Amino acid sequence: MTIAGEPGGGLVDRYGRVATDLRVSLTDRCNLRCTYCMPAEGLAWLPGPDVLTDDEVGRLIRVAVERLGVTEVRFTGGEPLLRPGLPRIVAAAAALTPRPTLSLTTNGIGLARLAGPLRAAGLDRVNVSLDTLDSDRFAQLTRRRRLPDVLAGLAGAADAGLGPVKINAVLMRGVNDTEAPELLRFALAHGYELRFIEQMPLDAQHSWDRAAMITAAEILDRLAAEFILLPDPVARGGAPAETWLVDGFTAPDGGPARVGVIGSVTRPFCGDCDRTRLTADGQVRACLFATEESDLRGTLRAGADDAELARRWRAAMWGKRAGHGIDDPSFLQPARPMSAIGG
Ligand code: SAM
Repeated sequence: MTIAGEPGGGLVDRYGRVATDLRVSLTDRCNLRCTYCMPAEGLAWLPGPDVLTDDEVGRLIRVAVERLGVTEVRFTGGEPLLRPGLPRIVAAAAALTPRPTLSLTTNGIGLARLAGPLRAAGLDRVNVSLDTLDSDRFAQLTRRRRLPDVLAGLAGAADAGLGPVKINAVLMRGVNDTEAPELLRFALAHGYELRFIEQMPLDAQHSWDRAAMITAAEILDRLAAEFILLPDPVARGGAPAETWLVDGFTAPDGGPARVGVIGSVTRPFCGDCDRTRLTADGQVRACLFATEESDLRGTLRAGADDAELARRWRAAMWGKRAGHGIDDPSFLQPARPMSAIGG
């Protein structure tokens, strides 16, 4: 058994889970203001000096890959495409041995232009967030009229070979909840893989309401009105999405088309969680919903060597809780909103 702090050990927690999937937030800023994520006026952004430099991010990713067994790195934010050094950070991660799988979660604005350079830098895949195909609803939901940019970004990603291109959609009651079949039709027609995410209590405004959340069961019911969904024979492993095969449809690789549902609230998957998170200001979080963080930026800037950084990271993950506890009466929403954690 690996003990926390043991040289060479991976990111093991006291429940025996091993984190191999690193989510790196590159900025807390965003060019959209999705109503379920951020207020219209934005937030108090992280002060510039607190944000890790490109070299500091690169070093922590290297420590995670070389010393801690991380095999997948996903860049997120905020909006990661706003980070000027993104291609350089991707290229540095792609040069590591063993080479991690590299992916990006983005709102897609600017992706039409950046997909090629990011692919050339070594990015493997993208997830693009898209909650509606109606341009007025998009403007209402994101407070920006940018739907054409997102659609162009999706197409650009597919053209650049960043596949399978996945779409993340959050459904909200009375806002876009009638769009589930239409979003799936769109994804199937373009060869994108759609994932619905249950809305989580991570908004900056703290206005999440369980009753307003569209549950995984409701999403599946709505899809079943138009599609036949079959159990996916491929094992889920630590993946957040439960997936189904969409009967009669084919993916761009010739295999069966899939749709996924991430039921973080009603179908939690914490027992299989393999994620560790690094915020843009260098804090390790063991869970999206953690109320504790471990400061790697201070350790790094104080001159720690790689072994010490790895030791601190292991210790942070050892304390990961068994579950997110949303259903626990004592649940407290973390102070950091989703945009500053990295979804
Ligand atoms: N800006 C990028 C984007 O739009 O994908 C990356 C960051 S964004 C926080 C990552 C994902 O989190 C998006 O798919 C967004 O819809 C989702 N998200 C934000 N707030 C959420 C919430 N309260 N519950 C569920 N998903 C949320």
